[in-house]
Amino acid sequence: MDISVIVPLYNEEESLPELESWIARVMKENSFSYEIIFVNDGSTDNSWKVITSLQEKNPNVKGVCFRRNYGKSPALNVGFERAQGDVVITMDADLQDSPDEIPELYRMIKKEGYDLVSGWKQKRYDPLSKTIPTKLFNATARKVSGIPNLHDFNCGLKAYHHDVVKNIEVYGEMHRYIPYLAKNAGFARIGEKVVHHQARKYGKTKFGLNRFVNGYLDLLSLWFVSKFGGKPMHIFGFLGTIMFLIGMIAAIVVGTSKLWAMYHGDAYRLVTDSPYFYIALTMMILGSQFFLAGFIGELISRNAEGRNNYQIREEI
Ligand code: UDP
Ligand code: MG
Repeated sequence: MDISVIVPLYNEEESLPELESWIARVMKENSFSYEIIFVNDGSTDNSWKVITSLQEKNPNVKGVCFRRNYGKSPALNVGFERAQGDVVITMDADLQDSPDEIPELYRMIKKEGYDLVSGWKQKRYDPLSKTIPTKLFNATARKVSGIPNLHDFNCGLKAYHHDVVKNIEVYGEMHRYIPYLAKNAGFARIGEKVVHHQARKYGKTKFGLNRFVNGYLDLLSLWFVSKFGGKPMHIFGFLGTIMFLIGMIAAIVVGTSKLWAMYHGDAYRLVTDSPYFYIALTMMILGSQFFLAGFIGELISRNAEGRNNYQIREEI
């Protein structure tokens, strides 16, 4: 099979028939063999009914229906597990992404050898309250992820080599960072294509402004996991040791100055009078806490299920 199109959707009944016929037309014009996997993420409208009726007309349509709303990332993940095509394309259900981009995305993966091609909505049709924070978000994501050539991490329209989707796990709200997940899994050839974007025709957006707060936190944890996930002691143990050492030096200063004072007959000077006493106290406590956090982290990562999973490109 040439192409799998994965469409996560949540209450998008109006757009689905139009989207399906548009994709089918593009596929037919280019004579691709394909499947469209609609992942119904617990819609409360008639989306699932629409999907079943589309399936009756077009056997290339497949559907997965969640019992409740889990989010876009879990929907994509399930789609990735099911996908059979050589090239996998994800697309939003709201008709903001154009299926006309499919042939070129397919060509870039197949002929130009990209692992992942991300869409770039260079000219966007979204409200200003969304486009401005998005610019900031993308600049941060570029820096942290070390993928300097992407302008639009969160674009719903992306194309993947089959191997990529089988080797990444999109959980929580990590759909914003799939290129970063792919990079961490060892897929380095990440490209970009300017795509057409349209205003939402039906329904309304499913993500509010809290996307930027959550997105930022997700980016932090991804960065942390990718950097120290396999070796937590390297960060916590290091910080803990440094703090403990500072604390110890401060304790020695406090102790010797007390002895010194006593020796000179000033027995009433309390150790708590010295600022070094408080430095010693906090640093030693914090230091041992950090060290312990690192140690527990090591124990956890040593027991993690995927600890010995490595990405192997080829074997001969
Ligand atoms: N979506 C989903 N589950 C959710 C929220 C959204 O499957 O919990 C789907 C939604 O139906 C759409 C896509 O994810 O197909 C992108 O959502 P939306 O268009 O609301 O996001 P925006 O374009 O505003 O970023
Ligand atoms: Mg949208």
